[in-house]
Amino acid sequence: MKCGKQLDEDEREYCNDCSVKKHNFDRGAAAFSYSDSMKKSMYAFKYNNRREYAGFYADTLLSGWETLIRAWKPQIIIPVPLHKTKYRKRGYNQAEVFARALSERLDVPVDASYLMRVRKTRPQKELNDRERCNNINNAFQTAGNGVKYRQVLLTDDIYTTGATVDECARVLKAAGAQEVYFAAVCIGRGF
Ligand SMILES: [Zn+2]
Repeated sequence: MKCGKQLDEDEREYCNDCSVKKHNFDRGAAAFSYSDSMKKSMYAFKYNNRREYAGFYADTLLSGWETLIRAWKPQIIIPVPLHKTKYRKRGYNQAEVFARALSERLDVPVDASYLMRVRKTRPQKELNDRERCNNINNAFQTAGNGVKYRQVLLTDDIYTTGATVDECARVLKAAGAQEVYFAAVCIGRGF
């Protein structure tokens, strides 16, 4: 009921993480559990230029969550940004490619320049929960002054502990957003 992780027990509403942690985002949804086959798919999407997978990911997400996501009434879709040196090296931001696939289907625009990654960070997958929070702290900034968006839908490729999405949500809310939601391609299992 918060991050959207699949849980083993039907009666439970929150995963262990969401039971104990106060998230900065309001709610999230993901298309797939992060299984071995999805690991391969995500690797190709991220590093081997298989950008066309985004359409399938977006269709799958919306087949389960379109009603919920529309009820959030997002006015903008904002991808979790890459640092510009990484963007130049990779040539595209996979979270933005996913954002654009969702944008076409939901008819909500994308803003890929408002939220910026201003600090280079180590890959989150190399770190534990506490290190992830420290690593991502103050990594993002918004462009310009004044309130720009009230309801934001963030996109990312993989949601694990939520440290990245939480830090983006914190920065967006500091800039005046009231509600920040996220849509991820993959999410870890509830633990
Ligand atoms: Zn959760």
